[in-house]
Amino acid sequence: MIIKKSFKYRLRLTREQESLCSQTAGSCRYVWNRALALKKELWEKKKENLSCFDLNNLLAEWKEELDWLSSPPSQSLQQVNKDLDQAFKNFFSGRGYPKFKKKGVNDSFRLPQGVTLTKQLSKKVGQVNLPKLGIVRFTKTREIEGRIRHVTISKSCKNWFISFNCEDIPQPKEIPQSHIGIDRGIKIFAQCSNREAIPTVSPLKKNLKRLARLQRQLSKKKKFSSNWRKTKQKIQKLHNHIANLRNDFLHKVSTQLAKSHSLIVMEDLKTKDMAKSAKGTKEKPGTNVKAKSGLNRSILDQGWYTFQNHLSYKLNWRDGRLVLILPKNTSLECRICHHISKENRINQEVFQCQNCGHTENADLNASINILAAGHAVIACGVEALASTAKQELLIRKPAMV
Ligand SMILES: [Zn+2]
Repeated sequence: MIIKKSFKYRLRLTREQESLCSQTAGSCRYVWNRALALKKELWEKKKENLSCFDLNNLLAEWKEELDWLSSPPSQSLQQVNKDLDQAFKNFFSGRGYPKFKKKGVNDSFRLPQGVTLTKQLSKKVGQVNLPKLGIVRFTKTREIEGRIRHVTISKSCKNWFISFNCEDIPQPKEIPQSHIGIDRGIKIFAQCSNREAIPTVSPLKKNLKRLARLQRQLSKKKKFSSNWRKTKQKIQKLHNHIANLRNDFLHKVSTQLAKSHSLIVMEDLKTKDMAKSAKGTKEKPGTNVKAKSGLNRSILDQGWYTFQNHLSYKLNWRDGRLVLILPKNTSLECRICHHISKENRINQEVFQCQNCGHTENADLNASINILAAGHAVIACGVEALASTAKQELLIRKPAMV
């Protein structure tokens, strides 16, 4: 299996480098938009399709026409044509139609060649030689592993970042043989069957008041005035901060779990569906929308779906496995005698079996059931329903009586 990984760092650019980065991102956007418009027009008028090769030829003409298109690295501009070609392939296989790019939204460009890491300036400052930009410094927060395939330079909230996309990552030699089940919850993010409990970090909830205040301020300001822009920027920055906190948490937890266990079993919670369902449809409006959307926000806020994805690929790297089972009775079944009843749940926290009297933390009981369901399914070979290529969705075996 080819393992690909990217390593992202904040860049420390000089003024000249920063302006060249902005210029390159801008030129890439120009090429994308012009090529997209042309492709669209030709298709609508003559049903002709421009290939990546045609676009690269056109690019040479555009460069003669516009001097400024020659200053950015030409390989970055050619990458745009490649991306556009891919975007159309995606469209023909059922994904959305390629969109025009806007200034200041996802500014980025890619360098496929001529990237060499040079001697580090200090422990925390790395240096890399890039085409046209020369030696560029970045804050090195961790080691780069594997072989660099290409780099992507991107801008987010006034800062520029470099992402090294690598492959041939050396694999860890020791593989743990531990198996756990995880019950996901609102208060406790993940209750593990080995009694470990990971509490919830809810960055959006924490910053909600501040966000609401800023949004109120924004609504009172004259649109597009300089004060309006300033507040708008503050909001953007806060959103960015929230996203960073959430990403950081999800990565740390998933890395730790994937490192320590070779099999992880979770319920296949269709979080996207759960989040969608509160509003309902036009024909069938949802009930109790406000309370449900509160729950939904906290589900999204915790990024369960992202967490599941992180776990899946991080386990894959280490030859581990994520098994998803159908959520059925895992919270109502006694893990000792397998009696299933709604009455077993005394309240949100406590589980007490009405048959054998077994009493335990409700999430812990559920997580042990989840692990058992995963094991049963693997042992019986009741495999099926592959939901995506990356994950396996397994049918939960009926409870043992
Ligand atoms: Zn029992």
